[in-house]
Amino acid sequence: MQSTVLRLRRRLPKLPRRLKSPLLLLLLGLLLLGWLGWGGHSPRRGDRHSHSLKDWHDYAVIEADSRRSGLGEGGRPASLPASASARQKADLFQANGFNALLSDSIALDRSIPDLRYPECRSQLHYRRLPTAALVIPFHEEHLSTLLRTAVSCRARAPPQLLTEIILVDDASQKPALGGPLEAALAKHFPQSGFTRVLRAPKREGLIRARMRGIAAVTADVVIVMDSHCECGVNWLPPLLHPIAEDYRTVVCPFIDVINQETFEIRSQDTGARGSWSWNSFHYKRLPLLSESLRHHAEPFASPVMAGGLFAMTRRWFNELGGYDSGLDIWGGEQYELSFKIWQCGGRMLDAPCSRVAHIYRNFMPYKNPSNLGDFITRNFKRVAEVWMDEYKEQLYSTNNEEQYRLVDAGDLTKQRAIRERLKCHNFDWYMKNVAFDQPKFYPYRRPAKSLTGFLKAESANRCVAVAPGNSKPSMTTCGDGGGGATLLHLSERDEIRVHASPPERCFDVPDGRAVQLFACHGMRGNQYFKYFPDIGRLRHVPSSRCVALDSRLEQLALVPCSKADSAQRWAWVSAA
Ligand code: UDP
Ligand code: MN
Repeated sequence: MQSTVLRLRRRLPKLPRRLKSPLLLLLLGLLLLGWLGWGGHSPRRGDRHSHSLKDWHDYAVIEADSRRSGLGEGGRPASLPASASARQKADLFQANGFNALLSDSIALDRSIPDLRYPECRSQLHYRRLPTAALVIPFHEEHLSTLLRTAVSCRARAPPQLLTEIILVDDASQKPALGGPLEAALAKHFPQSGFTRVLRAPKREGLIRARMRGIAAVTADVVIVMDSHCECGVNWLPPLLHPIAEDYRTVVCPFIDVINQETFEIRSQDTGARGSWSWNSFHYKRLPLLSESLRHHAEPFASPVMAGGLFAMTRRWFNELGGYDSGLDIWGGEQYELSFKIWQCGGRMLDAPCSRVAHIYRNFMPYKNPSNLGDFITRNFKRVAEVWMDEYKEQLYSTNNEEQYRLVDAGDLTKQRAIRERLKCHNFDWYMKNVAFDQPKFYPYRRPAKSLTGFLKAESANRCVAVAPGNSKPSMTTCGDGGGGATLLHLSERDEIRVHASPPERCFDVPDGRAVQLFACHGMRGNQYFKYFPDIGRLRHVPSSRCVALDSRLEQLALVPCSKADSAQRWAWVSAA
């Protein structure tokens, strides 16, 4: 099937053969860009060449929305009547992570606030845009929030652009998600074939559930969405416009917040670029660049998507091999897709004029299969092993490191072959060109080169002491100038030397459990340690374990590295 994107391309005039002069070509190129509105700013009403562009706002819908009144209308905070059962409310909150009982009293097609920048109201988009399908995976979603997602996004999208909605039931057990869901869909979407529910026979997790939905799409563009969202005014055209220019551009809406208790809709902030922290691999954000601050309604490049909401051509998704189907349940998939979009020749934009609101929750209400083990670490490791090259060490050595080493990432040949086949950039390229300011906000945790001082356990006011005849270091109070503590030296050969005791002794871990003292041999081996000052971690390199204060025995133990364990935090106190 010929895609609209291609058709758009075909409409460009062909250059006459004799126009060989590079200068002329350049001029012509610039004119062409201007004609298409590619000058970096979205065209708006009154622009000279707006004949290929149009205002996609549906003023009838905007007008009808403005006349609505009732509970939660306009995205205003709502509450249950006093007569509502507190017990029922609490049970449904527990089962969903939000006030699902309240959701049942709010209209599925309620009006929402227009949270966009005023400039968005006059933005024009291509008259011819690709068609789009909504793909919504759900696992044990509450029926009314699921339906509201479909109803609200449909109501505020041009019907000729949004051609199908595919719901993927990831093996939910709630009875309402069976027959009652299908009956409700038939009622709200009478047009035959517009909505489809695919049912996974067993729990797949959101990554494979999305893939199942995307595989069923017939439209040009796939829009992935969480099952508890509401779409804002004219949300669709700003997502499709940059995609019409280049099928390898992926566009994310701004995500607003639906309050989990009151269903009030508010904006999160004024936008930011996506990123992550090294010592948790949690999604984090980077500030906007000055250019986007000046033109805040314009789409801007973002290194990482938030995850749940994006628009992407089916063609580009498939060329990239989809998601890594080895990713289980939840977690890491936003990095996997973002890294490969950028590294393999695409780009990712956030479109401030497309707003979709999402219910953020404080806990995951559903159960996860117990036979999968630590799937989040495994997902992260798969992504790191395939895409992050040497940067993966940064992730491993400052996290729960032993866990990263122990987890089996499984077979990665297919993922590596995609990277090879598409001749994707390496991660260093990505860090330098896309996430270039990431280290400024989420710095690399570098080990100290050398240090001299007293070693203090941060969880207790105790410092390491080495008595001349003892085979193990012990602990003492850290007084002024170290009290009874012993001066230690982290050497450039990464050993921890007892400073003033010829013959020099070093920290050593012969039994893999407790730190002992042996003659320094300078060969690293069991005397090889790295100290990360930012996180206070003292890491035994050969075992990938960490030094912890064993407060009961008053000695130093080697344990699995964990960020949560305060007994693993050490400071070097200078002897001044
Ligand atoms: N989901 C799914 N299968 C799962 C877990 C989640 O289909 O095993 C769906 C879920 O119903 C939601 C989306 O995936 O539509 C994202 O999950 P969730 O909202 O829990 O993630 P969060 O927004 O909290 O990151
Ligand atoms: Mn969600």
